[in-house]
Amino acid sequence: MTQELVTIATFTGVFEAEMAKTFLEEAGFEVYLQNERFQSMYASIAGDMYQIELQVFAEFEDEATGLLNDLDDSYLASRILKKEKALLEGHFQLTSGNHSNQYIEKIRVLQNPEATHTLCKRLAQRLSEYDFDTVIGPAYGAIVLAFEVARILGKRFVFTQRNEGSMVFRSGFDLQDTQKAVVIEDIVSTGGSLAEVLSCASQRGIEVVAVGLLVDRSGGKLDPGVPVESLLSMDIPLWRPEECELCKLEVPLIKPGSSDKK
Ligand SMILES: [Zn+2]
Repeated sequence: MTQELVTIATFTGVFEAEMAKTFLEEAGFEVYLQNERFQSMYASIAGDMYQIELQVFAEFEDEATGLLNDLDDSYLASRILKKEKALLEGHFQLTSGNHSNQYIEKIRVLQNPEATHTLCKRLAQRLSEYDFDTVIGPAYGAIVLAFEVARILGKRFVFTQRNEGSMVFRSGFDLQDTQKAVVIEDIVSTGGSLAEVLSCASQRGIEVVAVGLLVDRSGGKLDPGVPVESLLSMDIPLWRPEECELCKLEVPLIKPGSSDKK
């Protein structure tokens, strides 16, 4: 008896197709990708011509399709963070001044543009139901994310940056046609800098209709006053320095990114 392969999903990018393949393989399915080799060789032109087809044996079609629908944002985001080795363990001082035993080195995700694009596509899907004309991303980490989300959704892109301590729009941007915006951030723990971006927008008469996050580190406790769409919610413990157990144990403190902040 010959078993027939059926296509249950198509992808324009190799990275996304591989993620879906691994997801199904971990659940015990035999999975084949068609056109992948062609895609890798001619990535710049192949996307428009060929889609990567994800195939399973016909008898598993319904089961595998159902499972693939469960490949949700949080699975994808946590998978990518692990794959890019962005989840670090140790004793860290966060931007907020709090200490934690876990740190997400978000810059490692940006090292892989395909992974970044995959995440931005999911964020774009989540934000597409909102009415806005511009995507705002605070420097530096969220610039790439906000740019990519704006590109996918056909919106304008601007960024904010810190200037002598306060959050401002980068000079030179023309904000005349910006009325409604979404703000994209990579990882938010206490929401301190996010609040600064929101107030910076409102000072310019821009209404922020939603916030899109890669990771909500507060585990859903965040309340910026507008809807939050986060791909992944993690409840990572954090302590004030004077209450930090790791400080008491004299574990050396790491200040990620501190050498970049002048
Ligand atoms: Zn500590």
